[in-house]
Amino acid sequence: MIGKLSLWERAVRRIKYYLFFWKSVGGVWVFDLDGPLMDTGMFYDRALKEFSERMLSVFNGKFSVKEILDKQHELDLQMMYDINPYTGEYYLLHKSRFPLSLMKTYRFFCEKIGKKFNGEIGKKMRDIGKKVFLKDEYDGVIRSEVLSLFQFLKSKNEKIFILTKGDDEIQGDKKWALKKAGIMAYCDDFYVVPDHKNKKIKEIKSENPALRYYCVGDTYKEDVEIGIRIGFFGIYIPYESNWKERGHFDDIEHYRNKSRSVRCSSIAEIKSWFEFLKGA
Ligand SMILES: [Mg+2]
Repeated sequence: MIGKLSLWERAVRRIKYYLFFWKSVGGVWVFDLDGPLMDTGMFYDRALKEFSERMLSVFNGKFSVKEILDKQHELDLQMMYDINPYTGEYYLLHKSRFPLSLMKTYRFFCEKIGKKFNGEIGKKMRDIGKKVFLKDEYDGVIRSEVLSLFQFLKSKNEKIFILTKGDDEIQGDKKWALKKAGIMAYCDDFYVVPDHKNKKIKEIKSENPALRYYCVGDTYKEDVEIGIRIGFFGIYIPYESNWKERGHFDDIEHYRNKSRSVRCSSIAEIKSWFEFLKGA
């Protein structure tokens, strides 16, 4: 009976408990996928560039690139909580959302100046958006440091998880690219969630007892802060192509929890921070 153990015996048990986990698993790492491990944001930058050029030509330069892209961003964010008529559920990160947001932006500007919406042009705009999901391109955007980092962490007896938000099919294609690159062999599991990571990251923690927990991501609130709240140490890697954070990096750095996170320029820095992080 635990209640009958002396204070000393309970202390010894506690020490043994921690020694056991220290020997078995030192740390548990939860990596975000898009941004830190794969430079997939470049597909969106490329598509938005093509889209804005097409819009400039369709409207004869009547609207600036900034006006066009600001409106696209606004409509794209709004669509997250619109109902997708094909599924009856919120769009969230469904693969149809981004391409449709380009068509909607074209429609918005047509209506703004009383121009007739041209279905053919609308479809072409949507097709530009679909180019962000060309699975043959995923191999080429895996960060070159991922494999060696995962090998390094495994050599230190750490557990590695990838937790990503997005469309099952799209994220599954990216997982396949990681598998072909030999990276999944060092990864303990790969999870896709449709919207929030909170529930899954809690589950990962409760199912994987360890001495330390780390969360790595490029969206401070959604990848890093949620982990910090439940005892993770955060590794925040800002990403220029992050559609939610672009333009807000200074604000984020201002309120970032500096005692429970570090800011790195890329995952390549994690190896050199490793000994420091072990004491964090
Ligand atoms: Mg990300």
